[in-house]
Parts: sequence; C-alpha cells; structure tokens
Amino acid sequence: MQERVNLLGLSGPQLREFLVGIGAQAYRADQILKWIHHEGMTSFDEMNNLSKALREQLAEKAVIEPPLVHERHLSKDGTRKWLFNTGGSLIEAVYIPEPSRATLCISSQAGCSLNCTFCHTGKQGFHRDLTSHEIIGQIWTVCHELKAEKVFLPGASRVISNVVMMGMGEPLMNTDNVLSALNLMVDDLAYGLSKKRVTVSTSGVVPNIDKLSDALDVSLAVSLHAPNNELRNILVPINKKYPIDQLIAACQRYVSKQKNRVITIEYVMLKNVNDTPVHAKQLAKVLAHLPSKVNLIPFNPFKGADYERSTDEAIELFQTILMKAGFITTIRKTRGDEIAAACGQLAGQIKDRTKRQERFLAKIPVSEIVDRI
Ligand code: SAH
Ligand code: SF4
Repeated sequence: MQERVNLLGLSGPQLREFLVGIGAQAYRADQILKWIHHEGMTSFDEMNNLSKALREQLAEKAVIEPPLVHERHLSKDGTRKWLFNTGGSLIEAVYIPEPSRATLCISSQAGCSLNCTFCHTGKQGFHRDLTSHEIIGQIWTVCHELKAEKVFLPGASRVISNVVMMGMGEPLMNTDNVLSALNLMVDDLAYGLSKKRVTVSTSGVVPNIDKLSDALDVSLAVSLHAPNNELRNILVPINKKYPIDQLIAACQRYVSKQKNRVITIEYVMLKNVNDTPVHAKQLAKVLAHLPSKVNLIPFNPFKGADYERSTDEAIELFQTILMKAGFITTIRKTRGDEIAAACGQLAGQIKDRTKRQERFLAKIPVSEIVDRI
C-alpha cells in the first residue's frame, strides 16, 4: 500500500494540490485546514462539512499525525518545555509567557550539522531534518494542549502571539520544510500569526536567506556572534563558507525588499572571547549601514563547554557602546533555566549520525555524564 500523506504539514497551496490530485475540489482545503489547525482534529470522521465519500477517500490516502510527546516540563517562571520523540531523537519546543505576549520557540532539525563551538545542540551532532509536519506539529500540540487548559493570551482566544525558530537546528539548512511550516503559521486558516511576529534565526546560510526572502517576508534574526572573520570562523564555522561581508550583503537584500524591515543581530556574550569594548566598536562598524538592532545573549553554560558567560559589567559596557553608536541593544533575559530550556541548552538526545557527540562526551569526566542520561 502507498504510504499515506500526513496532511498536518501541508501548507494551503500544497493541500489544494493534494486534493486536486485525488480528484477532489481544491476549495475543500480551506475547510480541512480549519479542522486541523483551528479545531485540532486528527480524524476525518468528524469533519462534518465534507461529504462521506471525501472523508472515506481521505482516510484511505491521508493521515493527520502530530509528533509524539515524550515529556512535558513546567518551570517556576511559567516557561514550559515539550520534548517530542521524532524517530529516536528527542527535539524540543519551549513556550515562554510574558505579560502581553507568549512566544513559542520551535526546532527545525534533530541536532544540527553546523557545530558552532558554544552551542549545546551543535555538540550533540546531527540526526536529520524535521519534516514540515514535525515542525508545525510542535505548534499544533502546544496550542491545543494550552487551549484545553484554557491558558490564553490576555483578552484573546489565541494561545501564542509569536513564534521563533530558535530551538534545535538551523532552519535554513532545512528550508523547504521550514517554508511549508512558515506558510501555515501566517495563514489565517491555520495559526494566523503576523509575519512580523514569526522569526527565523539563522547562523548565516547566505543563499537560503535570499530563498526565504523570495518566498515569505517573516522577521529575520542573524546569529553573528563575532565582528571579524578570524573570530567568527572559530565560533560559527559556516562563516568560512559565507564570511561576514557576504552575510551582511544578504541581510541588506533582505531588508531592502520590505519597508521598515530591521534585522535582529544575535550576539552571544562569551567571557574574554568576543565581549571587549574593541569588539563592540568593531561590531558597530560592521553594522553601520544595516537597519538592525542587537540582542546580546548571555552565554548559557553546559557541561564540557569551552566558554564562560561574560560578566554583567562587560555585557552592560558592550551595550552602552552599541547604544552610543545608535543601535537599539537589548540583553536577553534567561528564561526556563531550571528546565534547561534556555538558548543553546536545548538538548534532547540525538541519534547522532556524525562522530561529534562521541568526541564531545569523551572530554567530560564519566562521573559528570551520568546525570545527563
Ligand atoms: N541555528 C539557528 C537557530 C537556533 S540557535 C541559529 O544559530 O541562529 C538560537 C540562538 O541561540 C542562536 O543565536 C544561537 O547562537 C544561540 N545559542 C546557541 N548556543 C548558545 C548558548 N550556549 N548560550 C547562549 N546562546 C546560545
Ligand atoms: Fe546549529 Fe544554531 Fe547551534 Fe550553530 S548555534 S550549532 S547553527 S543550532
């Protein structure tokens, strides 16, 4: 029997194409999208505005299957983490409530192939790209579980206002599946989020920044982390392929497509590595002509890491220099620390296909590894 298609991951245009392919009417896609994403339905039986014949045909050719929830964690500050089992690897989504908004941070890959030296995900190696249904399935699950608990945004019937693709993986190394999921995020028939409130974070896969720009103008965050190529080659190795000037040029092209667009520049603060006033001044020069704001991320340590978090004084001085140079500069507050849900701590268990995890674990004393398992 032919494998059934998982409709959860199909964008509006893809679902229309699928329906036409099985001889159904394209406009039925609107009804089906609403059943799946607004109502959280996983069976065709109850889709009572579709004919019985179509429902039977769908049941034969398609499924609606969210990813399996492995565990849920709730932190004292209200942050919640979902671990999903995606065929042997655990991936994560983190829900971060604030007084006037709620952000969901989702994953795009099981592990990551890019190996940034300060990132826990990178250290675990790479298993595989997530499918579009596994990507949107994180939002589907969180929204429907929180709705059932009646955890709504203040004065609204929705549960989340923002999505950031800052969990595990590099979204622009899995661009096609990410694009299908992004389409659903901004589609009123699915999650209806404003494009401004959906952010793709990338370490700088230059050609795919252009691909994203051609397809959908969501917000873009770029993990710069260093103001010169010598240092960035070490911290973010993909820089050797796409160095800073090429990356900034791609950012310029991205902002030029849309009025008032600003790129968020992410900059992890590593003690005595990239956090001195000289680095801050260099960074201001690199960004001088790019409409951008800077988000300083205090490094989140993990066992076996080669770096330490910058001191509060160093972070504040860095911020002051950038502000004086005219950049809006924020310092990211660490949330969900005790459930390991903070940036760069997102670390499930990855069926590593590279030897990277093994090499990394070999550096950590066995007594310390025990509590990781
Ligand atoms: N791969 C994408 C998105 C996931 S990482 C990217 O690199 O942009 C999300 C953010 O967390 C990135 O800015 C990343 O550099 C940052 N990050 C990774 N490890 C971190 C750590 N240990 N402490 C603080 N931030 C970290
Ligand atoms: Fe991958 Fe982003 Fe981590 Fe780099 S920082 S290893 S790109 S997840």
